[in-house]
Amino acid sequence: MNIFLLDNAVLIRLESFAVVFISMAIWEWIAPRRILKAPKITRWFNNLVITFLNSLAVKFVFPVTAVGVAIMAQKAGYGVLNIIGLPPLFGGCVAIIALDLTIYFQHRLFHVVPVLWRLHRMHHTDLDIDVTTGARFHPVEILLSMVIKMAAIVLIGAPAWSVLAFEVLLNATSMFNHSNIFLNPGIDRIVRLILVTPDMHRVHHSVIIQETNSNYGFNLPWWDRLFGSYRDQPSKGHDAMTIGLANYRDPKYLTLHWMLAVPFLRIER
Ligand SMILES: [Zn+2]
Ligand SMILES: [Zn+2]
Repeated sequence: MNIFLLDNAVLIRLESFAVVFISMAIWEWIAPRRILKAPKITRWFNNLVITFLNSLAVKFVFPVTAVGVAIMAQKAGYGVLNIIGLPPLFGGCVAIIALDLTIYFQHRLFHVVPVLWRLHRMHHTDLDIDVTTGARFHPVEILLSMVIKMAAIVLIGAPAWSVLAFEVLLNATSMFNHSNIFLNPGIDRIVRLILVTPDMHRVHHSVIIQETNSNYGFNLPWWDRLFGSYRDQPSKGHDAMTIGLANYRDPKYLTLHWMLAVPFLRIER
C-alpha cells in the first residue's frame, strides 16, 4: 500500500488537479458569481505560471515528498498516532482533521507575523478571485508551508494514505472555494456547514482589513466558528465588494515578476 502511494502520489495529485481545475473553469464559465474586472488572460497566464513554478520548486528543494515523510515517521514509530496505534481508517480521519487545523493556524500566523504577511500578501494582491487564485501563492510561502506540513505529519504520526488524501483534498477545496461560481444561497448555507464555500472564502479576499482578517479556513469551516474568525458575508455584498489590497491596485501586480517582488516591497497592504 505504502509503495503504491509513494509511486503514484504525484500522478494522483496531478490528475485530481486537472479534473477539479477543468470542472471549476467550466462551472465559472456557465454560472459565474461576479463580473470579473481585471484582464483575465493576464491573470490566468501569470497565476498558472506561478502554480507551475511552485510545483517545480517543491520538487527540487525537497528530497522527499510529504507521503514519503509519513512513511518514514511510521517506520520510526514517531508521532502521536503511531504511538497510540488507532485503527488505520479512524487514525487517518483524525490526521486529516488535525492537518486541516494546522493549516488554519498557519494561515492566521501568516496574517499576523509581519515577515510572513509579506509573503502571504501576494496571494491577496489578485484583483479578482477565481479558480486560478486558489494556487496563486509566493514560492517561498509554498516552501515554508511544506516544512510546516512535514513537521505536522511527523508530530501527528499521520498515515501515508491520509497525507495523500489531505493534499488532494486541500488542492481541490482551494480551487473550489476560490472559484467564481454561483452557488444558490440556500445550498451555500448547507454546504458551508461542512466545507468552506466560495462565498465564505471571498470575504477573506475583501479589501476591508477586518474582512481580510476573517474566514481563514480552507477545508473545514468549523475552525473559524470555533476560534472567533468567522464572518458570514462581506459588508458591501458579493457584487459590490472590492477584491485585493488597498495599496496594490495597479494591474502590474498581476504579472509574474511583480508577484515575485511583492514580499520585498515597502507597501504593507
Ligand atoms: Zn490570507
Ligand atoms: Zn484565498
